Amino acid sequence: MPPAALDEFLRAIPKVELHCHLFGTVRKATFEALNARAGSPLAQEEIEGFYTRGEKPVGVLRVLRALDAELVRSPDDLYQLTYEYLEDAASHSVRHAEFSWNPTGTVHASGIAYPVAQDAIVRAIQDARHDLGISGRLIAAIDREASPEAAVEMVDWVLTHRREEEVVGIGIDYRENDRPPEMFLEAYRRARQGGLKTTAHAGEFGMPWTNVRTAVELLEVDRIDHGYTVVDQPEFARECAERGVLFTVVPTNSYYLRTLPPERWALDHPIRKMPGLGLRIHPNTDDPTLHKVTPTQAWAMMVRDFGFGLDDLRGFMLNGLDGAWIADSRRRKWRDEWAAEFDALRDGSSLDTPTPSMSGT
Ligand SMILES: [Zn+2]
Repeated sequence: MPPAALDEFLRAIPKVELHCHLFGTVRKATFEALNARAGSPLAQEEIEGFYTRGEKPVGVLRVLRALDAELVRSPDDLYQLTYEYLEDAASHSVRHAEFSWNPTGTVHASGIAYPVAQDAIVRAIQDARHDLGISGRLIAAIDREASPEAAVEMVDWVLTHRREEEVVGIGIDYRENDRPPEMFLEAYRRARQGGLKTTAHAGEFGMPWTNVRTAVELLEVDRIDHGYTVVDQPEFARECAERGVLFTVVPTNSYYLRTLPPERWALDHPIRKMPGLGLRIHPNTDDPTLHKVTPTQAWAMMVRDFGFGLDDLRGFMLNGLDGAWIADSRRRKWRDEWAAEFDALRDGSSLDTPTPSMSGT
């Protein structure tokens, strides 16, 4: 496939994004402006380091913590970050974005009360919808490095200050090591009882596949973020396939770039194996400005690095719609419309005859 034609095609196809962290979307110029306003608590070299992606990239969690601890100080900051993210996503034909934000850090480190913070983000979602046509939805995410009690407190904030239209569910992120999903059972139980959708980061950082099983079977999540180590247990992977669990995968995930030898990375990456086990996957940016990736590039990596064909991509697009937290009427409408759009763009593009489908999705 000619590279430019592929990029143009991938930029144009309608997309959802389901796994992206608000603080991982901050433009470098915005980050520098927030730092300058705060009296430059971070040295310029440190910021350069945050936005540099080496061959063996370090994780991004320290950047997210710096935003909580030093830089995000007012609801207007949250408005700006949200609006800019949705603007960037819309420029890559993302039509619907479900993105995560960690209220615990904002409330306790930044000192912005939950309802005030939520209002600012919701206002940005509404304005972006009006200005750009993108539908944004917020996932309130548990900070798993904080306590299980803080997670319950966070879910109670969401339920007390409920914005049913824009705030659709909860997730969990930050370091999974030593913070297994079962610690947060009570928070997930309350969220489900309160009518919220649920997702969870599990099987990231090489953590065992049993964390994915705990998230699916005990927390009863609607979908899984990452989930790569599920490939270590094909029998359980088949169960996930039968349940129709969607895995939101991230081609630029730091852990595998760091731990697999460069010449083996694309070949041994679990993303390459997941569809062959019957799993439904969907590619995402996770932390686009920090991973130096756009939605278009994340989709392109599925082709260039992991060897999927255009039929597979069409399946991933539909997987995304099936896993999105939208009304079924909208899902049916978008499935029909987006499939037709995908096919028309494919017919009208100068892409070569696609390579045979690897997975049959
Ligand atoms: Zn993530």
